[in-house]
Amino acid sequence: MPRLKKGEYPKSAVAHLAREKRDIFFKPGDTPQEAYDRMLPILGGKITTVFGDDREETLRVAAKKDFEIYLPFSTSGARNNFTIAHELGHYFLHTDFEGDQELLLNRRGSNRREWEANWFAAEFLMPEDEFRRSAVECEKNEMRLALKFGVSPAAANVRMSALNID
Ligand SMILES: [Zn+2]
Repeated sequence: MPRLKKGEYPKSAVAHLAREKRDIFFKPGDTPQEAYDRMLPILGGKITTVFGDDREETLRVAAKKDFEIYLPFSTSGARNNFTIAHELGHYFLHTDFEGDQELLLNRRGSNRREWEANWFAAEFLMPEDEFRRSAVECEKNEMRLALKFGVSPAAANVRMSALNID
C-alpha cells in the first residue's frame, strides 16, 4: 500500500511531467472529460461523487493502479476538471508505492505538495504554449479561455496571471 512522498519538484519538472501525460492521454480536440474517460480506466482510477462529507475533493490511493477521486455533488464540471487533474498530480508526483499506508490527499491547504499538484493541473489542462496562443486569439477573455480549455474562468484567470499574461 502506498505512502506519501515529500514532494519537492521544481516547477519545470512538474510541467514537463504534466505535458508528458497530456501527450499520452489527450487526443486532438478532446475535452478534459473525454481524456479522463480514456485515461482513468488505464490508470486504474475511478471517480466517485460524494455529498456533504469530508472526502470531497480528495484522492484515496489504495495501491498502484487502484485509486479513487472524490468529487462534490454540487460543483461545476469545469471546477471538477481541475480537481481531477490536481488529484492526478498527487497520484503521479506524491505517491510512493513502496509504503504501507493508504493515502488520502485533499485539495485544500497550501503546502508544497498542494502547489505542485496545482502546477501539474494547470499544465495538464492549459499547456503553456497552447494557452499563450489562445490568450491572444481570445483577447485575454477568461470566459472564452475557460470554455476552450474546459476549466473555470477563475482557473483561466489564475493561469493568465501565472504566465504574466496581462
Ligand atoms: Zn491536493
